[in-house]
Amino acid sequence: MTHALTLEHAKEMDKQDALAHFRKEFYIKENHYYMDGNSLGLLSKRAEESLLTSLNDWKEHGIDGWMDGQEPWFYYSEKLGDMTAPLVGAEKEEVIVTGSITTNLHQLLATFYQPQGKRTRILADELTFPSDIYAVQSQLELKGYSPEEHLVQVKSRDGFTLHEEDIIHQMTDEIALILLPSVLYRSGQLLDIKRLTDEAHKRGIVIGFDLAHSIGALPHQLHEDGVDFAVWCNYKYLNSGPGGVGGLFVHNRHRGKKPGLSGWFSSRKDAQFDMDHTLTHADSAGAFQIGTPHILSSAPLLGSLQLFEEAGIENLRRKSLSLTKFMMDVFQQELNGYGFTICNPLEDERRGGHISLQHEEAARICKALKANRVTPDFRAPNVIRLAPVALYSSYEDVWETIYILKSIMEKEEYKQFENTRNVVA
Ligand SMILES: *Cc1c(COP(=O)(O)O)cnc(C)c1O
Repeated sequence: MTHALTLEHAKEMDKQDALAHFRKEFYIKENHYYMDGNSLGLLSKRAEESLLTSLNDWKEHGIDGWMDGQEPWFYYSEKLGDMTAPLVGAEKEEVIVTGSITTNLHQLLATFYQPQGKRTRILADELTFPSDIYAVQSQLELKGYSPEEHLVQVKSRDGFTLHEEDIIHQMTDEIALILLPSVLYRSGQLLDIKRLTDEAHKRGIVIGFDLAHSIGALPHQLHEDGVDFAVWCNYKYLNSGPGGVGGLFVHNRHRGKKPGLSGWFSSRKDAQFDMDHTLTHADSAGAFQIGTPHILSSAPLLGSLQLFEEAGIENLRRKSLSLTKFMMDVFQQELNGYGFTICNPLEDERRGGHISLQHEEAARICKALKANRVTPDFRAPNVIRLAPVALYSSYEDVWETIYILKSIMEKEEYKQFENTRNVVA
């Protein structure tokens, strides 16, 4: 950096930001700095409106809301799937909104994990989110394999990131399926989805990705990259509300594949109410649904996705990279010598939507931030994640966040708190 960054720089960048007007679509508390949109995105007025539409359909139509409401519930999951497809680079029929990350993983592992001969193992990584690993362990056990032996976890060299070569090196002829994150939840490292998919396919291995920390933050090309399957939630960058219904992708090449876990909503829509005991499953990702869709937990997504259509995911990615770069620059200017390590990758091509700071006192620094109107995110044992979100965060928010952090460190204000995590962290 040649000259010092100031609050005026931040304000100037906000003035020039073509996406700045989306901020007023959201409920944002004044003088609060929300940096946790990667755990739970904020409520938008559009999401509120689409939820109220579905409530009103229930009020007005009762049971007939399934077909006759303003947004008929019978086709709601398919409609939301169509609207999500551009965000993951998919054909419409490859995507459905259903379930949660974990239940969708169970569904797709039950479908795609088909051990044969000596190909019996599942390859994941040691930095993956626990729920994903629990799902893999259960699915191995259900097929009669011990997770100790049949779950292979790629090791991290530094405790924060993965080397793609290390992953590829472990793609042996004993691996039946690979499950990886697109962006690692702690360090925010973005993996090369195309490269890993190509390498897996060269070796005859099925590969799926968990997009929890990339959907809504950056564009994807799942169809073109040839990824076999993917899962995600909609409550992080997609702002669909706590516990909002998730989504999944299954490549068209697997069209017609029998779902591992079936239910009446796996059915072809026109045959579902025949009530036949032989299932004719849908010829699309819709086949991977199981039971009745959770309409009131899906409805906010409709309004929220309209905002993504209007803003454009490429534009959002550009702003997100610029926000996180600005955050790192201000951080390096103001917070040198306070014991922090930046553990997210610095390069644009390898960075997701958040920055990740390691510090021995991370738990209580987060508590001090909260007491000072900044909402960060703590991940045990010692990581602070900060996610300035392109749709609603400003450069000024970023500036204030780092400034408040600096003041906490200067005054050692964090020492007023215990260095332990809260029940929900
Ligand atoms: C948020 C998150 C989850 C949560 O799964 P749910 O089933 O939606 O509760 C799982 N995996 C990853 C990688 C996540 O980031």
